[in-house]
Amino acid sequence: MGYTDHTQMEIVKHQYDTVIIGSGLAGLRASLEAVKVGSVVILTKLYPTRSHSTAAQGGIGAALGNEEEDDPEWHFFDTVKGSDFLGDQDAIEFMCYSAIPIVIELEHLGVPFSRTADGKIAQRRFGGHTKYFGKEPVRRACYSADRTGHAVLHALYEQALKNQVKFFEEFQVLDIVIEDGIAQGVIALEIKRGILHLFETKAIIVASGGFGKIFKVTSNAFATTGECLSILFEQGIPLEDMEFFQFHPTGLYGLGILITEGARGEGGILINGRGERFMEKYAPTLKDLAPRDVISRAILTEIKEGRGIKGKEYVYLDLTHLDPKILEKRLPEISSFCKTYLGIDPAKEPIPVVPTAHYAMGGIPTDIKGRVLRDTNGSYVAGLYAAGECACVSVHGANRLGCNSLLDTLVFGKEAGLDVAKNFKNFLRGKIPSYRIEKVKGFIEFLNSNKGAERVAPLRERLQRTLMDKASVFRTKRSLEEALEEINNLRERFRKVELKDKGTVFNQERLQAFELYHMFNLAEALVRSALVREESRGAHYREDFPYRDDQNWLKHTFIFKTPQGVEFKFKPVVITKFQPTERIF
Ligand SMILES: Cc1cc2nc3c(=O)[nH]c(=O)nc-3n(C[C@H](O)[C@H](O)[C@H](O)COP(=O)(O)OP(=O)(O)OC[C@H]3O[C@@H](n4cnc5c(N)ncnc54)[C@H](O)[C@@H]3O)c2cc1C
Repeated sequence: MGYTDHTQMEIVKHQYDTVIIGSGLAGLRASLEAVKVGSVVILTKLYPTRSHSTAAQGGIGAALGNEEEDDPEWHFFDTVKGSDFLGDQDAIEFMCYSAIPIVIELEHLGVPFSRTADGKIAQRRFGGHTKYFGKEPVRRACYSADRTGHAVLHALYEQALKNQVKFFEEFQVLDIVIEDGIAQGVIALEIKRGILHLFETKAIIVASGGFGKIFKVTSNAFATTGECLSILFEQGIPLEDMEFFQFHPTGLYGLGILITEGARGEGGILINGRGERFMEKYAPTLKDLAPRDVISRAILTEIKEGRGIKGKEYVYLDLTHLDPKILEKRLPEISSFCKTYLGIDPAKEPIPVVPTAHYAMGGIPTDIKGRVLRDTNGSYVAGLYAAGECACVSVHGANRLGCNSLLDTLVFGKEAGLDVAKNFKNFLRGKIPSYRIEKVKGFIEFLNSNKGAERVAPLRERLQRTLMDKASVFRTKRSLEEALEEINNLRERFRKVELKDKGTVFNQERLQAFELYHMFNLAEALVRSALVREESRGAHYREDFPYRDDQNWLKHTFIFKTPQGVEFKFKPVVITKFQPTERIF
C-alpha cells in the first residue's frame, strides 16, 4: 500500500512480523528460525550475496576432530585465552559446544565443504587454536577452499528463499525505531527509486555487520560502515567494548586486502628484512599461529625497529616452500588476489603484508539469546535483537580468534531467531510515530539542499586516516586526544557538506553522507572507550599503560550517549572455569 504525504515524498508501508537488517550469515541464519512462526523480511543495502560474509576466506571453528584429536573444551579454553580473559565464559562455552552441531547442520543444508580423503569435512590450523589447553596447534577450522564465507552464504540464501523469507535488496535502513523501550519498526530508503518504506513490526533483528571502514587500511568491504550501531547509540542504547578493534596481521601491503590466516595454517611463515622468522621470538610455541593481536604488534614492532623488508613498512608472508598443489587447491583465492593486485605469484615470491583493520570485537550489547541490552544490569529492549559482527555477546572479549566469527554469526544468529519464534505470541505490532518519519525526511532534506564547501569523500578520508594514525594498533592518551579533537573538527565541517548529486535514483553520494554522519559516532565511541581503558589487553594496546590490569579492568566498557555527552558504565566479566593467567603463546 502506498500514499503520498504532504511533502510529496512517496512512502510505502509494509507489515511483516519480523524485520531482519542484513543478509550476511547472521541475518540469514536468524531468518530460518523466525520464518517458522511468521512472516520475515530481510532488508539489505546490498544485493544479499554481496554481504561481507561472502569475503570470509579461512574457515569456521568447530572441534569436530576430523583430522586429529580435538575437544570443544579446548576450543572453549583457547577462545577465553585468545580474548585476553575479557570474553564472557558462559557465552564462549555455549558457542564452542554449539559449534559441532551448527557445522553439521550447515553440511546438511548443502554447504560444499572441502573434504578429507575419507570424505569428512576437512579442517586446518588457525591462529590460537590448540589442543591439550595450549600445548600445540590443532586442525579446527572447517573450510571450503579459501572461499568459506561464499559457500556458506550461498547455501543459506538458497534456504531462505526456499522458506519464503522475503528480501528487499538495496534498501538502506535509515532509522530503527525504539519507543517506550520497545522495538516498533524500521524506516528504510529504496536506493533504486529514492522512496521511503516503513516497516511496522513485532521483532527486529539487527545483523548489519562490522564497521572496519572507519579505518583507512582495512580488509572490510566498502559498505561495512556500521550505521545501525550508531542509530541505536543515538537512542540511548549503549555500545560495549568499542575500544577493542582487531587488526589482522596479513593485509596486502598498500591495499589492506586480506590474506587469510589459513595461509599460515597451511604452513606459511612471516619473515622480516633480515630474513628471520621473527615470530619465534614473540610466541615460541605457536609462532606464526599466535593470536592476531600478538602478531600484529610483532610485525609493527619489527617495522618500527627498522627490520621491515628493505627498511620499508612491510614484512613478508612466505608461502614459497609449500607444495604448489596446496596453493592451487586450498588457497586459490588469495593466489589470484596476489597476482591481480600485486603481480606476484605466491608460489614463487613472498607476499608483502602489513596489519589491516579487520574486526570489531565490540558492538551492540546482547545476551546469549541475542536480546539487546539497554544497561549493564541485564535489562533489555523488548523485541530488539542483534547478532553477528554488529553485536557484542561477548564471546571475543579483547581479541577474536580466527574462524570464531563465522561461528558467532551462525550460533547467535540462530539463537536470536529461536528466541523470536519462542516469544512471538507476546510481541505486539509496533507503531512508527510520525515525528520519526519527519526526522528522517528532515535529514534527507538537509543533504539535498545544504550548501557549503565540504565534500563527503575527503571528510571520510580524513576520518579514516585519523583513526589509522592515532587509534589503531598502538595508542597513547595523547594520540587518542588528538583523534578526538580531529573527529570533532570533522563533524563540525560535515555541517557544511554539499552533495554534487541531488537526484533520487541510486544516489550513492547521499547514502555515503548518511554513513559518514554515523561513522563519526562510532569513531568517537571507539576513541573515548580507548581513552577510558588505562591498561593494555588484547587488541587494545596503550603505550602509556603497557600491562594488563586485572585488578581494575577485568570488566566490559559500556558507553552511552546522553544529552549531556557520553557516559560510561562497566560490567563484570563472566568467569566460570578459567581464571585469568599470563598470556604466553
Ligand atoms: C576479508 C574477510 C575475511 C574474513 N574471514 C573470516 C574467516 O575465515 N572466518 C571467520 O570466522 N571470520 C572471517 N571474517 C569475519 C566475518 O566474515 C564477519 O565478521 C562476518 O561474516 C560478519 O557477518 P554478519 O552476518 O554479521 O554481517 P555481514 O556479512 O557483514 O553483513 C552485513 C549485512 O548488513 C547489511 N546492512 C548494513 N547496514 C545496513 C543498512 N543501513 N541498511 C540495510 N542493510 C544494511 C548489509 O547489506 C549486509 O547484508 C572475515 C572478514 C573479512 C572482512
